[in-house]
Amino acid sequence: MNRSDFPILEQSVNGKPLVYFDNAATTQKPQVVIDTLTDYYRTINSNIHRGVHYLSQKATEAFEEARRTVQAFINAPTPQEVIFTRGTTESINLIASSFGKRFLQADDEVLVSEMEHHANIVPWQLACEQSGAHLRVIPFNDAGELELDHLDNLLNERTRIVAVSHVSNTLGTINPIREIIQKAHAKKIPVMIDGAQAISHIPVDVQELDCDFYCFSGHKMYAPMGIGVMFGKAQWLNEMPPYQGGGEMIQRVTFEKTTYNELPFKFEAGTPAVGDVLGLKTAIDYIQQLGMARIAEREQALLNYATEKLSAISGLRIYGTSAEKTSLISFNLNNIHHFDVGFIIDKMGVAVRTGHHCTQPVMDHYHIPGTIRASFAFYNTEAEIDQLAAAIEKAKQMLG
Ligand code: PMP
Repeated sequence: MNRSDFPILEQSVNGKPLVYFDNAATTQKPQVVIDTLTDYYRTINSNIHRGVHYLSQKATEAFEEARRTVQAFINAPTPQEVIFTRGTTESINLIASSFGKRFLQADDEVLVSEMEHHANIVPWQLACEQSGAHLRVIPFNDAGELELDHLDNLLNERTRIVAVSHVSNTLGTINPIREIIQKAHAKKIPVMIDGAQAISHIPVDVQELDCDFYCFSGHKMYAPMGIGVMFGKAQWLNEMPPYQGGGEMIQRVTFEKTTYNELPFKFEAGTPAVGDVLGLKTAIDYIQQLGMARIAEREQALLNYATEKLSAISGLRIYGTSAEKTSLISFNLNNIHHFDVGFIIDKMGVAVRTGHHCTQPVMDHYHIPGTIRASFAFYNTEAEIDQLAAAIEKAKQMLG
């Protein structure tokens, strides 16, 4: 579907047409997004918000229009609650640092899950170290599903925030975040969602979810690298201290005291990545033209086809078998090291990811050093999945 919109996919690798199955790490960019970047630098490049001149006003208008596009895309109540960051990692660090300073005290608890990306573990560990709070963990079962029976006990009077992923980047599991949010809210505990792996696959409505924070990266949704979003409810953002100091985030600076700008600027210190923000807007327009429902349907068809094909390979074990999954498959082949399998698959022109996928606790759960992960986007094809299956068979033959 719409494969020809992505020029990078036309090349050959190792003498074979490129098969790109590393979409969970980053998606490829359609020509319209690439054009947006060059158009921006050719026509209106200028620093925003501070200039009265023509270009600065044009760039500012385009930047703020992009913010409203993001607002509508995730159905945020106001554009002021949409903060531009460098990506999910920076969004989570912002929340952990700023929320942590304001709301975490000794012996408080932060609740994450066992399947989190390191980007949703380490920032909270840093916040816990600084405040004396403790990290608590929701476990998952061998199918890769969160064990929510534990939730009622884990959510207690010391819990200050819950931070969980919408979709696991290693297992593909779509977590029941609505249920988690409802249970946490019943105890007046806010919830942050790491949406890095959900945003390009599932329609996200932050008001319907009623999440307090939602984070995602542009580069995993066909937009440029280096741009991301942190949605936060104004009630929290107004109470949280700034994350970084500098230009744009201030109202008035004197050497005695500085007062801070209003939302969203309070959390956007320094010159932002204007061109990349415009690229993100184009990517959202592109996704909406295709239709999220059509994308999801196509990706589920690819997932089903690949699951069937790969399951038929003897000695192949899939990690993450939840009924609710996005389009990725993590696997290992017999006891062969994931790196060796990945190496041969790459030589066959198929790009997959090998390793722990920044989820070492998930590897510890299964007592393995890593997996091979194939992740699909709507532009992939069944023929490419056949090529992957053939490459795995070849690796099996060669590595015994
Ligand atoms: N969380 C999840 C679930 C992810 O998959 C990723 C990216 N691998 C991140 C966070 C971090 O995203 P980024 O590197 O774009 O900041």
